[in-house]
Amino acid sequence: MAEVIDLKKRQSKQRRIQKSRQRRQAEAVASMLSCGVCPRRCAHCGMAVEHYAPPPVEAPYPFCEVCQEEYEAYRRREDGEDIQEAFWHTDQWAECWRTWLANMRASEAFRGSAAFLRLMEEHLD
Ligand SMILES: [Zn+2]
Repeated sequence: MAEVIDLKKRQSKQRRIQKSRQRRQAEAVASMLSCGVCPRRCAHCGMAVEHYAPPPVEAPYPFCEVCQEEYEAYRRREDGEDIQEAFWHTDQWAECWRTWLANMRASEAFRGSAAFLRLMEEHLD
């Protein structure tokens, strides 16, 4: 009888450990996806935006003034303007913007998916 009770205690402890682990995983996923969605922070660099104003129509996310300028320079470059406005506006710089924007779009899609909503409902109550 004592062995049965001991086994049940062990199973209960294992369930608590697994539930705690799943909660930490859900928190990590939610935390990773929350980057760039705070309206009071620049989506790109994370700096606090002191005077919040709705982003211009051509900006996909709220940017600080500097990142807005950088984003517009990136857009001009992508639209085929053949001028390098700053020495750091290299192919690698453009690739950083390209992949950052792709990551933001992928994160938005995942945040809206049934799997993500289920993860949040089941493990972050
Ligand atoms: Zn910024």
